[in-house]
Amino acid sequence: MGAAGSRLEKALGDQFPEGERYFGLENFGNTCYCNSVLQALYFCVPFREQLLEYYSMNKYPREAEENLLTCLAELFSQISLQKKKTGVIAPKRFVQTLKKRNELFRGYMHQDAHEFLNFLLNDLVDTLEKESHPAKSSPETSSPVRLANGQNNGQANGVKHEPLVTWVHKNFQGILTNETRCLRCETVTARDETFLDLSLDIEQNSSITSCLKNFSSMETLNAEDKFFCDKCCSLQEAQKRMKIKKTPHILVIHLKRFKYMDQLKRHKKLCYRVVFPLELKLCGIVEDADSEYSLFAVVVHVGSGPSHGHYVSLVKSHNHWLYFDDENVEIIDESAVQSFFGSAQEYSSNTDHGYILFYERLSANTYI
Ligand SMILES: [Zn+2]
Repeated sequence: MGAAGSRLEKALGDQFPEGERYFGLENFGNTCYCNSVLQALYFCVPFREQLLEYYSMNKYPREAEENLLTCLAELFSQISLQKKKTGVIAPKRFVQTLKKRNELFRGYMHQDAHEFLNFLLNDLVDTLEKESHPAKSSPETSSPVRLANGQNNGQANGVKHEPLVTWVHKNFQGILTNETRCLRCETVTARDETFLDLSLDIEQNSSITSCLKNFSSMETLNAEDKFFCDKCCSLQEAQKRMKIKKTPHILVIHLKRFKYMDQLKRHKKLCYRVVFPLELKLCGIVEDADSEYSLFAVVVHVGSGPSHGHYVSLVKSHNHWLYFDDENVEIIDESAVQSFFGSAQEYSSNTDHGYILFYERLSANTYI
């Protein structure tokens, strides 16, 4: 992208941010799902900085051991150390290791960017956890019960220990409380679960705020779906709601645009218009006081169906918005972000839709 690269440099002129690098990523045959997520993560500055710090401390001792963590760190380091400000990098080692680690990503089929992000973050956490207890790798202690999103329950061999909080958790992990009230005895059972991203059901002509409200709204468990109440010792009707107990530093929201349709016996893409604001305030659904966020990346799905199409990403870096499409990087207007909200009509020629949103908490220094 020599020409495109110099175009980008020209467009930014002396506003090109000091020390920043804008590199496209080569596509190895349908690896746009991977490229779009990698760009969003690269421009997640606290994550990038911690990954580079990890890399600088671990560069030498484990040359032989290749995993996604070391490959990602190597790739980010390679980008950040480029002499040129723009260009193209081939994330070859990373993609090869990904294909080795997970057969899902081995073929040349269109893959789901959210599945990839989820797999990657959990894999990074697993590697960091293994590295922090090298001595405890015997079979009895190395397989804690897994909960959602790769968190362990802090219990192995009946000995309670605090779950390890890695820098990946410090960036992305939040806590949900699942509250269930038995309608017979009124007992409220609250269970906390951690998350690294939130998957939201979407509706036509809605917003992230309304999707989040639906996510945490009261739901009645009845008929086939009753709740086992420990106090009543039986299945009972109950009311259930999810609350965000602790918001993460980086809030990743996955819009469930690919829905399984019973009538069609396949997944369908929902092109609904879902407004995602540049600044997001979470009110009424979280227990944390400070919950103002700023959008800094969007992974966009391009195309009308779930099993084909393309992914690109929009990234905010130093107050500029950039459009990353594999090898190509362009500067775009902030106002262009709204063209990725979705379509208000069922059939529309615009098939570029926001799919994964990355928000960073505005109130800094609250890193826990
Ligand atoms: Zn009960």
